[in-house]
Amino acid sequence: MTLLDIDGLKTYYGSDDGWVRATDDASLSIERGETVGLVGESGSGKTTLAKSIIRLLPDNAEIVDGSIEFDGTEITELSDRELRRQIRWSEISMIPQNAMNGFDPVYTVGDQIVEVIRHHEDDTSKAEARERGRELFDDLGIDPDRIDDYPHQFSGGMAQRAMIALALALSPSLVLADEPTTALDVVIQDRILETIKEMQEELNSAMIMITHDMSVVSETCDRIAVVYGGRIVELADAETIITNPRHPYTLGLRNAFPDISDDDQELISIPGTPPELVDPGEGCRFAPRCPFAEEECWEVTPQPESYGDGHQVECHRADEIEHLQAEAGKKET
Ligand code: ATP
Repeated sequence: MTLLDIDGLKTYYGSDDGWVRATDDASLSIERGETVGLVGESGSGKTTLAKSIIRLLPDNAEIVDGSIEFDGTEITELSDRELRRQIRWSEISMIPQNAMNGFDPVYTVGDQIVEVIRHHEDDTSKAEARERGRELFDDLGIDPDRIDDYPHQFSGGMAQRAMIALALALSPSLVLADEPTTALDVVIQDRILETIKEMQEELNSAMIMITHDMSVVSETCDRIAVVYGGRIVELADAETIITNPRHPYTLGLRNAFPDISDDDQELISIPGTPPELVDPGEGCRFAPRCPFAEEECWEVTPQPESYGDGHQVECHRADEIEHLQAEAGKKET
């Protein structure tokens, strides 16, 4: 059953140079309990898309077009009050990039968890909310007594876990995890990802996992949306994105990240830089970096084409990709 249905979403930032088209015509739907990865380089618009869903955008941002339907409710039409009352934390929660910034430094972590729970559940007493916080801490491998600590008393890994506790405290139907482990060292990263997955499965929450790291999404997600220049350029189940991508950008991303099962894989980063999002003009935004770009790519913006089984690609040359790759391989040898 569809939980979230984003259609033609455009979220722009006002700047001195004009609108920054950070999310530009994005469409994506998510089923209950499903995990979808948003993957792309820094600045491609992943965070903007996620923050649009929970409407936690900065003041200079505007949703200029499109709709976000969450469980039958049109999110773009809700007032701030309705959002706070009905949606944020209770239905949709977000684990931010840097958890330390998500907590208020002047209150204990426990007080903040109690506050969020009680804001949404009038009948829950302080003692009950606190007990739930302690249980969540225990589930997440934090000593429950640390609930009375202030955020600055936590290490980065603990703060991230505490933020996960807060994000899951009200059993939301959708969790937005924005690079939840980038600030942490590699060993802790794996453990935290596992914990998020376990808790999510237990609660049957859907999740959007944002990352620039292809290996993270391939391990944790059912489907993957590849984001480039504010657009979803390829969308398919994780297996297809990893083994049979059709967008040249996805091919590049796949080669730019290590395959944990292949020690000998040569890592190649994608040459060039992400596109200018102020007035990007017509044509494919990846054309300047694409080894396969031809005239049409520079002139006509590609639209999503279906390749069966929910596989969608925005590329004029997607149906020739295997041949183009084979030809490129021949030239190299
Ligand atoms: P990262 O992984 O670095 O967070 P991202 O893929 O999540 O990157 P966004 O943070 O959504 O990308 O940024 C998309 C574009 O919007 C970028 O060009 C960025 O510079 C721009 N942008 C983000 N926030 C603002 C803002 N408050 N004002 C103006 N432009 C912004």
